[in-house]
Amino acid sequence: MFQSLWLWTIAVPMALVTSWLVKRTIYSKTNIDRALVLYLLITMASMFGGAVIYYSSPSVLSLVEAVAVNAVLMTGGVIFILRFWGENVDEELNQLVATSDNASQTTLQSSRIETQGIAFRGAAISLILLSEFLMGWAFVLISGTPTITSGTLFQTVVGSDWFIFTMALEMVLSVYFLRRDLPKYFVAIFLTQSVVMFFAPTAIHNSSWVTDSIYLGSIAMIGLLIYVYEFLFNHRLITNVARAYLVALLGAYATMMAGLYLWLVVGNSLLFVLSIVAEMVIYFDVLLMGKQAESSKSTSWMLTPWWVFGFLGLTFIAEYFMGGLFDIQYYGISFVSGISLVPIAGTAINQIGAAFFDFISYFGAITGSAWFLIMMGAEMGALVAFKIRITRELETKIRLVMVIAAYFIYSIFLPSFFLSNAASVPFVGWSMGIGTAGAVAPVFLGAILGTYLITAVLSFLFGSRQVCSVFCTAALMYQGTFYDSMKEFNRSSKLGKKLLTSRMSGLYKTVSSVVIASIVVAAILSYLNAVGIISFTFYGTDIAYFLYIFYFNFLWYVIFVSIPFVGTYGCVTTGMCHIGLFNQFVSRFGLFRLKVKDPAVCAKCETKDCAKACPVGLTDLPGSFIKSGQFRSHKCIGVGDCVSACPYQNEYFYDVRGWLREKFGIGKDKGYGLTKLPVIGTPGAMTNAGKQVDAKPPFGENSSSAS
Ligand code: SF4
Ligand code: SF4
Repeated sequence: MFQSLWLWTIAVPMALVTSWLVKRTIYSKTNIDRALVLYLLITMASMFGGAVIYYSSPSVLSLVEAVAVNAVLMTGGVIFILRFWGENVDEELNQLVATSDNASQTTLQSSRIETQGIAFRGAAISLILLSEFLMGWAFVLISGTPTITSGTLFQTVVGSDWFIFTMALEMVLSVYFLRRDLPKYFVAIFLTQSVVMFFAPTAIHNSSWVTDSIYLGSIAMIGLLIYVYEFLFNHRLITNVARAYLVALLGAYATMMAGLYLWLVVGNSLLFVLSIVAEMVIYFDVLLMGKQAESSKSTSWMLTPWWVFGFLGLTFIAEYFMGGLFDIQYYGISFVSGISLVPIAGTAINQIGAAFFDFISYFGAITGSAWFLIMMGAEMGALVAFKIRITRELETKIRLVMVIAAYFIYSIFLPSFFLSNAASVPFVGWSMGIGTAGAVAPVFLGAILGTYLITAVLSFLFGSRQVCSVFCTAALMYQGTFYDSMKEFNRSSKLGKKLLTSRMSGLYKTVSSVVIASIVVAAILSYLNAVGIISFTFYGTDIAYFLYIFYFNFLWYVIFVSIPFVGTYGCVTTGMCHIGLFNQFVSRFGLFRLKVKDPAVCAKCETKDCAKACPVGLTDLPGSFIKSGQFRSHKCIGVGDCVSACPYQNEYFYDVRGWLREKFGIGKDKGYGLTKLPVIGTPGAMTNAGKQVDAKPPFGENSSSAS
């Protein structure tokens, strides 16, 4: 205990000095400045290197060796500094630019000096990490725990409290020293990064610390992701440095979560400690750029689909393993051992089949677990809450509140924590129809048919929005601020363009036919197997249930991270969801539709904002409004972004409530989405983001009502 305190009295000042050197690194303009910074870093590293030499095998000889190494490095360092005495990088460059009449030579020299800057940054980062590593190594040797074996030295040191806590402290102190040189968003991200670093489960050998740090570190990471999503939602233009940084950071976090998962499952922390080092390199690289990071070229991230794909994909990998970590904490390691896997053996076909089965089963076990959904819900729910804040229509606000409530109550709490046998309860137990809760067995037939009946009645009365925009978990995932903003990809991506409008494209017909056929065949086989007429399973798992896992716990997420190439709501636009198709089909004949007060307003409307706002790409809205004053489409899931986007508040929802009003003459059908009467011809109407737009009136006076 006393020894540890004594060592911390060295580690804390060491973090302070390193952070100060980080600041000096940024302000170093001359070669002598740079050489001095490197010299001090080398001195620190050699000091701890000497301690490692001595404490590895304490003796007079090792003491002499330690002193000798320090003496050589320090003397060598002084010679190194003298080499640069009197040189000034900036003056050199300025003089060159002023005197040179050869532009290409100037560019060449500038790039040479820039390369020197990169090399200096690289050297500084390497030395910071080296001295941290040597300090951690020395302190692990001095404190005596845990035992170091040659194969795990790197893991022991980097995963230790000496390395982790000192690094976390250095991150905080460096940000403090450089707070005025960094943009606000970098300060917020860096500080949260330091919190994530601090809660490294390997730092303290104690099971409560492992559990608590997994939860607290993950909460910090979720907070960071929410912050980044909102930042991207509010800033389309970001610098190239920020873009590279975000994707690299997410790569490190994806590796970190995968590493922690591996550590808990197989006990090897190598991947985790590598991710710690990677995170530090990424962190210091941007930090040491200082103001230069902000002056790099800016691009709209929406114009870089591959970057968005990388960002979404890496985020998903981090979330996936985080969900797995939560599952292990909650259910114990039996969560992993309970996943049904089959040996990959036999003929080549058998091996491929078994590998496919194992992959989908493992993948689906986590994505279908309650804790993965809780974690995703916290993240995506925050974005939906932000969306509520900027939504104009009361009806849409209420629906978004219902989305959050339905996600946690209907999709998680009731089936996973409340009902002991959800499979016998229609609608809740079989939320996604056939396969959701198990086999199509006689004992569940009532619950399955009941599900289809309830969902069909709801879709007839309210449209398929009841599932796709309320009860389905997809509503929460797609409708938060950041994810909703990516609906532009429905119109810009190659595939997204093919899926636009209510028309059934060839791709839609093919996908939906395959999906329906597969689910019908699987249901029949599942039933025949359940009643004992045939014996058919897919590696011991009911085929209808396996198909459900494949479609909703695997394929759905593939489509989700492929937004830059497919657009948002890919499950609707491609027709890959059989329960969605069923409800959309019923809705086609039901009461739900979108109406406009006055088709003439649409005819003269210049912006056609409703068509641009639709997250499933129904660009045929205005044409239908102009023609018939209303819009019905099997693909319309009633999100209502079009209603919010109409600058003239001309559009509204119509469903059973409107029908009842009409039928029983209770008031006039004014549209439930409207908080005010339309302000036709009023400039400065509101957008769905709640901002005033320069909306030119479509014409000078109001015209007659359409209905
Ligand atoms: S199509 Fe299916 S997965 Fe997509 S939102 Fe609708 S019900 Fe959910
Ligand atoms: S934005 Fe409004 S006025 Fe314009 S076409 Fe759409 S519903 Fe009609």
